Amino acid sequence: MRVAELAATETVEIRERDRPEPGPSEVLVRVDACGVCTTDLHAYRGALDVEHPRVLGHESAGEIVAIGAEVDRLENGDRVAINPSVPCYECRRCRHGRENLCPDLTSIGGAAPTTVDGAFAEYVAAPSTNVEPIDDLPATVAAFAEPLGCCVHAVDRLGVAAGDAVAVIGAGPIGLLLVQTLRVHGVGPIVVSEPVDDRRELALDLGADVAIDPTRDEPSAAIAESVGRVNAAIEAVGRRRTIQQAHELTCRGGTTLVFGVPPHDATIELSPFDLFYDERRLEGTYSLTPESFSRAVALLCHHRIDVDRLVTDEYRLEELDRAFDRLADGDGLKAMVYPQR
Ligand SMILES: [Zn+2]
Ligand SMILES: [Zn+2]
Repeated sequence: MRVAELAATETVEIRERDRPEPGPSEVLVRVDACGVCTTDLHAYRGALDVEHPRVLGHESAGEIVAIGAEVDRLENGDRVAINPSVPCYECRRCRHGRENLCPDLTSIGGAAPTTVDGAFAEYVAAPSTNVEPIDDLPATVAAFAEPLGCCVHAVDRLGVAAGDAVAVIGAGPIGLLLVQTLRVHGVGPIVVSEPVDDRRELALDLGADVAIDPTRDEPSAAIAESVGRVNAAIEAVGRRRTIQQAHELTCRGGTTLVFGVPPHDATIELSPFDLFYDERRLEGTYSLTPESFSRAVALLCHHRIDVDRLVTDEYRLEELDRAFDRLADGDGLKAMVYPQR
């Protein structure tokens, strides 16, 4: 089978490898689509520690072509989305339903304490517990199950209710999935802060009520003026300044959620008195749980989330480095790789 291998920092090579044999409790999936994520870009550029050679790609869907001896829930020919996060299911965190925080987490092609080869390949093996049937949902749509699962988990972390006001800082692919996830929760108003015109427009089309341009208007003043202070603000950029901005937007009792990946050594200034007196919360959200993945697949299968408009670039396996270059330049929204083409 062909794989796109990260041979060294900023070097992707197409290699011929043996097809993996599924283990007793695994399935082998023919990868029909795999999304490109900023995490892949970080690994490509060497900003994330990865062993070389490594096959990246953790947002995939396809068809089961072989099953292990102990798998009885699935059959050859079943179409599935793959959850790349494999927890141990035995540790305290796992037993408490917080599998994303498992210290022994393994990621199939993504970022975790342990990483195995992912889905920028013609075939990938996964534990049977990590795949979710998708019936006839197009693979391009099902490949959003992982990033959408992260958004479902994030909104769970917020604990917001219908009619609460929420701000989303950054309307890249994740910000636009968050807007739609908030929308299906009945959250409103939803306010977006995003400097790129097209992304602001798309955010409004996909369910945001207000979209402000932070390069023209100071976000906390502009948002306060349009909807007042919000119950929660989600930072989906990963910069100190925007995290601080998000915190300034929340009301007393409000929550700021860090979703974007900040640099490891970044620090922010914060008034502990505000946390105390205003009962304001500062939270993080990392990856997804088996439950949020399964709910994301349900949302996609029932057409509650529009992902078609997020796919701006389509590539063959051989063009993966081009996808990274374009992502690095901030062009386009979601790039999709089709290993069978
Ligand atoms: Zn990702
Ligand atoms: Zn565990």
